[in-house]
Amino acid sequence: MVVEQRVARSYSDLPQEVKDKISRSSLEVEGLPMRDVRCPVCDYVIARVYADMQGHFHARCRKCKWEKPINLAYFRSQKGIWRLKVKYYGEDYFEKLNNN
Ligand SMILES: [Zn+2]
Repeated sequence: MVVEQRVARSYSDLPQEVKDKISRSSLEVEGLPMRDVRCPVCDYVIARVYADMQGHFHARCRKCKWEKPINLAYFRSQKGIWRLKVKYYGEDYFEKLNNN
C-alpha cells in the first residue's frame, strides 16, 4: 500500500528571483493606504487592495459564493463622506439633492 504523504509547501526554498519580487513588492506598497472591496450582495470584505490598484478583477465572495468580474473604480467610497457633506453643506443637503 502506497501512502501519499502531503508535504507542507515550504516558502524557504523559493527561487531567489521570486523572493526578490516579493520583497520588492513589499517595499513598493510601503506607505500606500489600503481599502476594502466589499461584496455587492452581502457586504462581506472580498479583498483588500492598495490605493494604486485599478482595473477589473474577478471577485468571488467566500460568504455568499457570489462570483463576477468587478471594476474597482465602481466599488470605491470615501469613509465618512456622508458625515462630511452634512457638516459642510448643512443638514438639509440630501433633501436639496433629491428635490432638484
Ligand atoms: Zn457576498
